[in-house]
Amino acid sequence: MIDYRSKTLDELEQLIRSWGEAAFRAKQLFKWLWKPGLSDFHDITDLPKALRERLALEGFLYRLDMAGMAASRSDNTCKWAFRLFDGKIIETVLIPGSNHTTLCVSSQAGCAMGCRFCKTGTMGFSRNLLPSEIVGQVLSVMEQTEQEIWPRNLVFMGMGEPLANFENVVSAIKILTHQLGLNFSTRRVTVSTCGLVPEIVRLGRTTSAGLAISLHATTDELRNRLMPVNKRYPLKQLMEACRKFEMPRRRRITFEYIVLGGINHSRQDAKRMARLLNGIPSKINLIPYNKVNGISFREPTNQELHSFQEHLAKKGFTAIIRKSRGKDIEAACGQLWSKINKKIVNDKKLSMAILD
Ligand code: SAH
Ligand code: SF4
Repeated sequence: MIDYRSKTLDELEQLIRSWGEAAFRAKQLFKWLWKPGLSDFHDITDLPKALRERLALEGFLYRLDMAGMAASRSDNTCKWAFRLFDGKIIETVLIPGSNHTTLCVSSQAGCAMGCRFCKTGTMGFSRNLLPSEIVGQVLSVMEQTEQEIWPRNLVFMGMGEPLANFENVVSAIKILTHQLGLNFSTRRVTVSTCGLVPEIVRLGRTTSAGLAISLHATTDELRNRLMPVNKRYPLKQLMEACRKFEMPRRRRITFEYIVLGGINHSRQDAKRMARLLNGIPSKINLIPYNKVNGISFREPTNQELHSFQEHLAKKGFTAIIRKSRGKDIEAACGQLWSKINKKIVNDKKLSMAILD
């Protein structure tokens, strides 16, 4: 059976042509596939009946099954848990802002990278998500929210390492940014990676999506301990890949830096960071570590955070402190795969607002 929602427009055209139909039929179909609400081929009224029947016979419209939803009382952040066809659970977080809403999507069920501070990292890897499962998160959220808060920014910062699922993530980006698809601006789609060097360079050549690097340490010694991927691609190689990363003019690479209390925020760290980022058009986001149960790092104090920010400012960098959102529903970075999932596993019937 064909998963139509995993196909880019080019792939749909190939398929439709191979059925002896005109290519413009693929455009019509593609447009419908990404209209919130479509669940039956028979509703695609501008396609001939015979084609609709063939579509229904040979393939399906993959829809994610909502397993749970929770809304933060303090800051309007919403988190959804979706159940995939094989029972795996993934999470998606909607973060309303004053000007625009950001959606944080998952790219894998679990993650194989094993970063020491990350909840997803502790659960191991299940599988890559299909393009239809990645874009499906966006479509499902649109179907369940008012148009005024539909997301304008998309970040691949949910569960999983997007560049370890390269082909499917690139197909998803093509669908998300196509005018007839979900029509996101490529400037508003950001892929976050722990640092898979060959794929970083490939991403720059294949799409114009933005890049965020999870840096988190300024020496190989510490980064090896925090992020096993650093043993494969140490800082020197990572920075070379960033320098090679092709991006439109005036774009910058975002460097994410979790501030781990007492560990990675000294003046020396600021100095080394300045040296590492030298010559790379960059912006720095400081993320206070979110406490994860069972992991022994501590959250930074306000004083630690601000003094690190000042050390960076003295080196000429404006670093923005990213306040955690949705903490009360465990929607903050690195906390996905949380209470909500355990509850779902225990009680399959449970659906809405299960944290209450
Ligand atoms: N795998 C990708 C994207 C998903 S993780 C990556 O690592 O970049 C998204 C972001 O959340 C990353 O910057 C990650 O380092 C951060 N993160 C993970 N656990 C965290 C925690 N406990 N506190 C704060 N940020 C965390
Ligand atoms: Fe995977 Fe990113 Fe978590 Fe590391 S931080 S384990 S790469 S999801």
